[in-house]
Amino acid sequence: MAIETTTQAARRTVLAGARVVLPSGVVDGGRIAIEGGRIAADPATPAASEGDAATVDLTGYTVVPGFVDVHNHGGGGASFTSGTAEEVLVGVRTHREHGTTTLVASTVTENLDVLARQAALLSELVEQGDLAGIHYEGPFISPCRKGAHDETLLRHPEPATVRKLVEAGRGAVRMVTLASELPGGVESVRLLAELGVTAAVGHTDATYEQTREAVEAGATVATHLFNAMPPLLHRAPGPVAALLEDERVTVELVNDGVHLHPSVLGLAFGSAGADRVAFITDAMDAAGFGDGMYDLGPLKVQVVDGVARLAEGGSIAGSTLTMDKAFKRAVTVDRIPLPDAVRAIATNPARMIGLSDRVGSLEPGKDADLVVLDAAFDVVAVMRRGAWITPPPSV
Ligand SMILES: [Zn+2]
Repeated sequence: MAIETTTQAARRTVLAGARVVLPSGVVDGGRIAIEGGRIAADPATPAASEGDAATVDLTGYTVVPGFVDVHNHGGGGASFTSGTAEEVLVGVRTHREHGTTTLVASTVTENLDVLARQAALLSELVEQGDLAGIHYEGPFISPCRKGAHDETLLRHPEPATVRKLVEAGRGAVRMVTLASELPGGVESVRLLAELGVTAAVGHTDATYEQTREAVEAGATVATHLFNAMPPLLHRAPGPVAALLEDERVTVELVNDGVHLHPSVLGLAFGSAGADRVAFITDAMDAAGFGDGMYDLGPLKVQVVDGVARLAEGGSIAGSTLTMDKAFKRAVTVDRIPLPDAVRAIATNPARMIGLSDRVGSLEPGKDADLVVLDAAFDVVAVMRRGAWITPPPSV
């Protein structure tokens, strides 16, 4: 069972007339040729003859690469940690309609057997192309910075256990978030790097020095920088400074206006630079669905006015964000230049989990994954692998 797409792109299609955001810059009246589900020619210098291609006029719209969300726990009422394959696909479809054409399913802390079983289930969806990978968030995190994770199920990142969980994902595990200061933490970072799995530092109580040690050992990602870690203090810079200042690290930011003050988002963007920021949703089941009571792994979460908090204690419990909202906010509220916002929502997250050869930018040979936006930066159409998920009005 896989998600069916309505319009399969058998022949060559050309999307014409739009403002197109390319790695080399923004092109007005760009032409994107698509064949066999991939981008066929460089949109900046299209071929003179396009043969009998079907042309779709997108004049007045902006085309950006499909969004890449590497930290996402669910949506459409479905959970990636506990859902059946069918439920997980409901979540995938929900986010796809909001422009996320590449999605890594994140789990939350659960007991090891539950996680291993779910990883096996998710790995099948990776194999059939509906998911891009698995991200374990927990159980190897700090009880001091547990956020919306069940404290009774947390454990130390003992390398043998980390390896077992990675193996349970049958090659589909792309990232593991851990608190590197815990016993076994640095060794586990080293192991993950060896296994080709992205090691992310997060839900951590580490000092500046401990975090630097993790980066030296191979950690390359900051899991939702600022959230679930000690704050930046002038004599105790902590993980925030260690992760922001190191060129090898990409920092995840949840740009929903709740997780981070806009000023802090701007500071992080300015400090890391546009090539080292990755927008994530950290979404839970209520994303694209609605307020109410939900399960986040073994914990209860209450969503009120789109803000998800633990029913007990009130800790922020993921978001109800979708990537289109994060992108629109970046461009219209945070005033981040369009090409930089595209890097943060597609190019950088694709690179940080090793998928740059397929997705993350509009370049020849890559998957024809793209989002069509109107003048207000709202999603009008979404294409994935050359097939419309949501077609533009003219198709
Ligand atoms: Zn998360």
